[in-house]
Amino acid sequence: MLFQDLPQELISQVVSNLNKRDILSFLQCHASSYYRSLYDSFWFDLCRLHGIRYCHPDISWKDLFCSDQVSSMCPHLNTNLFTDTRFIREKKQLLWSSFDQRTEVKDHELCLHPSCDFSGESESCTDHYAATKHNLSIKIAPLHTLEIWCNTCVKTIGFDYFASNVKQGLKSESYIMKKLTKKLALVTQETDSQELALSITKGRQEIESGIFRIQFRNSTMHLVEKNWYTAWLAFISGQSTEIPGDLNNESLFLFDGSLNPTLSLGKHFELIGNLTRWYIERVYSISGKIISSNELLEAPEYCKLAHSIRIRQQMNQAARYSAYGSNGRISKVNSRY
Ligand SMILES: [Zn+2]
Ligand SMILES: [Zn+2]
Repeated sequence: MLFQDLPQELISQVVSNLNKRDILSFLQCHASSYYRSLYDSFWFDLCRLHGIRYCHPDISWKDLFCSDQVSSMCPHLNTNLFTDTRFIREKKQLLWSSFDQRTEVKDHELCLHPSCDFSGESESCTDHYAATKHNLSIKIAPLHTLEIWCNTCVKTIGFDYFASNVKQGLKSESYIMKKLTKKLALVTQETDSQELALSITKGRQEIESGIFRIQFRNSTMHLVEKNWYTAWLAFISGQSTEIPGDLNNESLFLFDGSLNPTLSLGKHFELIGNLTRWYIERVYSISGKIISSNELLEAPEYCKLAHSIRIRQQMNQAARYSAYGSNGRISKVNSRY
């Protein structure tokens, strides 16, 4: 029996384990597979054989498979989770009511298995996974709030913070993670009870003001648009209950995409730390670009801008020992600037 006479499923099975280069040379000499590969469903089947059934909407299944990233993506994540409204409603209720009951922010996880209502501190979660093999959980922890963790893959899902040029696989994983996180962290007027909406608002204010207080420790700084920042501060300090929308930094950039050198700190933009940036990216979303102070060009026109950031950095360092103390209040910190 020749290889080409094997049923398509078996051929797909073999092909799904090849790397991009070998697949492309295989397709050159196997006509029926070559014709199939002109359709994206061929590539979807290959991804599916790795357990991956999700993809960023801007990427084709072919792009995803050929990025050689499929094997490092989490196969436990699935889009059914966030399209199932009952699942979202129940998990949301569990997540935020358990948050309400805690007196201090300790590492706390909620199991995301559809038929499980387990939640608890991280150590007891480890035992839970050992006993049940339930993979996914969502965290509420000072440094990892609203991260989705896979216990089988042993990794945080969609964590693309360090990737300067985000790979297709990670981009897809990140996309699904953000959708799920948002569903669990946002108030939905139509379905959430008043009581739940209140505990989400209170919970997020507490979490985000905590992140705000510790954000600059040993951290790179990132430039964010002033109006969004002001709205965010109003929300986390409790002056407003309105949760800001996506962070859009468009006003900071010129038509050619470069940072506008005439911006001034405090008037047009403010600074956030790494931790806050990563949190904002996953819970609020950043539309468009975000730039860090390290990425500022050496060009002379950025000299003034870079200087003002350095001064602020030094002020933050000094403030760490006073206003950013363990119970430093946002309103106090805010009024300093
Ligand atoms: Zn996984
Ligand atoms: Zn569970």
